Amino acid sequence: MMIYYVEDELNIRELVIYTLRSAGYEARGFADSGTFFEAVRENMPELVLLDIMLPGEDGIQILKKLRAAENTRHLPIIMITAKSAEFDKVSGLDEGADDYITKPFGMVEFLARVRALLRRTKAHEEKTVFTKENLMLDMKKHSVTVDGEEVRLTVKEFDLLRYLFQNQGAVVSRNQLLTMIWGYHYEGETRTVDVHINTLRQKLGGAGQFIETIRGVGYRIL
Ligand code: CA
Repeated sequence: MMIYYVEDELNIRELVIYTLRSAGYEARGFADSGTFFEAVRENMPELVLLDIMLPGEDGIQILKKLRAAENTRHLPIIMITAKSAEFDKVSGLDEGADDYITKPFGMVEFLARVRALLRRTKAHEEKTVFTKENLMLDMKKHSVTVDGEEVRLTVKEFDLLRYLFQNQGAVVSRNQLLTMIWGYHYEGETRTVDVHINTLRQKLGGAGQFIETIRGVGYRIL
């Protein structure tokens, strides 16, 4: 799932990209429309976030271009507006953005809006069943099986396994897991993650070995 974000303010751009990547999305940030359209030609994103006030072509012009071109006409687009005056201007336009977010925004609210839009537009394409040999996780049924036998997991254990599967092949750090599963403001230590991973492995029996420890970094399912 690739998300593109056009934003000329470096701090906001980096925070948003970091947040999206922590949530398991691929994300790339662009400071202007030129580099953004170049990237679109090379690799089509699944979702676009557009700041409105930009040097050169602004977010509304970019939106119009995307809506006018055949291959980007149906791209889900969220406009990000700095001021309520801008917001009024944009809401008055019928350019066909899918959602609007007003700055300043919190990252939890932001991610919720991104997920909601992706659910609306991409629900049918989202991967919901993950397997690794005899281990299977089904998000819709909220079930985990080993050799077809149901394994009872706590909510946190299930979320851990799901997150590792959603990032299958990549190493996920303890801090990332702590942030994504326990929340941004969780005061616990990364040791909490290790404890839960250990009980998760025990419950999975032989399939527990698929959760690899990457020493000093975190965990991975290959
Ligand atoms: Ca701006």
